Amino acid sequence: MLKGKSVAATTLGCKVNQAETDSMLDMLSAAGADIVDFEEKADIYIVNTCSVTNIADKKSRQMLHRAKKRNPESIVIAAGCYVQSAKELLEQDESVDIVISNNKKKDITDIVNDYINVRKNEGGDTPAGGEKKEYFIDISKETEYEEMGGHVPVGHTRAYVKIQDGCNQFCSYCIIPYVRGRIRSRSEEAVIAEVTELAESGIKEVVLTGIHISSYGKDKNNEGALIDLIDAISKIKGIKRIRLGSLEPGIITEDFVRRVSANKKVCPHFHLSLQSGCNTILKRMNRKYTREQYFEKCEMLREAYDAPALTTDVIVGFPGETDEEFEETVQYLTELNLYEMHIFKYSPRKGTVAAAMKDQVSPEVKNKRSDVLLELAERGKKAYEAKYEGAELEVLVEEVLHREDGTYLRGHTERYMDILIKAGDIPMPESFVNSFVYVRYTQNGDILMV
Ligand code: SF4
Repeated sequence: MLKGKSVAATTLGCKVNQAETDSMLDMLSAAGADIVDFEEKADIYIVNTCSVTNIADKKSRQMLHRAKKRNPESIVIAAGCYVQSAKELLEQDESVDIVISNNKKKDITDIVNDYINVRKNEGGDTPAGGEKKEYFIDISKETEYEEMGGHVPVGHTRAYVKIQDGCNQFCSYCIIPYVRGRIRSRSEEAVIAEVTELAESGIKEVVLTGIHISSYGKDKNNEGALIDLIDAISKIKGIKRIRLGSLEPGIITEDFVRRVSANKKVCPHFHLSLQSGCNTILKRMNRKYTREQYFEKCEMLREAYDAPALTTDVIVGFPGETDEEFEETVQYLTELNLYEMHIFKYSPRKGTVAAAMKDQVSPEVKNKRSDVLLELAERGKKAYEAKYEGAELEVLVEEVLHREDGTYLRGHTERYMDILIKAGDIPMPESFVNSFVYVRYTQNGDILMV
């Protein structure tokens, strides 16, 4: 059925969603479809939507409409998180032919084949135009991880491997638990099979991702499952670096730190979500730790590693955030002194507890607070990187950049420092992609291989 049909997809949102789009395309391609760019005219369009903010909802709708406009005779498929949160709206949306909720994406090939079949039997002149088909489940009741197989990326040196789905935390500002459901862990066998395939294809660095990877194994009452999985992955021949996606501070226990630091393939780079340095706000956010506990977790990592790269996310302008509370966060972050901070201005997400809270902070105040933290983040990053002035660093080269001022190799260190290496007269710079090189680091960017 799919032979000769062109399929284009676009992804909104996170790395997990991207991994799921890649898997859907792999399945459709294996069934005979030709994969084309989303900007091209295609027979079938998939928009793997996101619903993390009201803006993400809007963008998801726009992409669906854009696809139908590009080819009015195409089959347009809305999949993923926005489907979960806006089923009724999509039912009325004339641009959309098929609706697929989370945990149903693995059935993409059968779903598309069925649609084409029915349409053919109806005698339709175009593939689209049939009755809208909905594959929708109540995600909050799902207990099984949706296994979609692995995906070997082409032309990338770092591969994102999904190990988990769902979240049980219910932070007051976040819609994710409602659209992704409860925690569901991927089996160790399936993860190992995917990473083995990646390693055989030449991938040296994997990043473990999920919606809440700190919960890995907890649905199976296996508290130590994440570190067991990391150790198992590190035994796969060819894998040189394992990077962990965003972690919850609670995962950092003495046992975890002892085992993770003993595993030399795990990058000394830990992204621990903080969100606020003020206990009253953390409580209103329904985060499950205090600023003191978070500090202690960072100290544990700093004791186990030489200058680990600790990074975080911070939200400014959470409902009711006073000047004093914000100042507490500023003082806290100054003392904490992290490598990188991603600063987000709070944006109310319809359907969450925080969106209905009183005392929403004005955009002007959010902007000012964001500027203060961005400056602090910039200073922290420079100070951290200054420690490596003159040091020899190992870089996994990811790409070659041909710029007006010359040719550069670009890659990251194990601490996720983004390094631009002057290629100068190096012959065939492309041959360095996906190789480890050693450089003498300088903050002025004058970085050469040694
Ligand atoms: S931990 Fe909190 S912020 Fe993260 S996905 Fe779960 S509910 Fe959302």
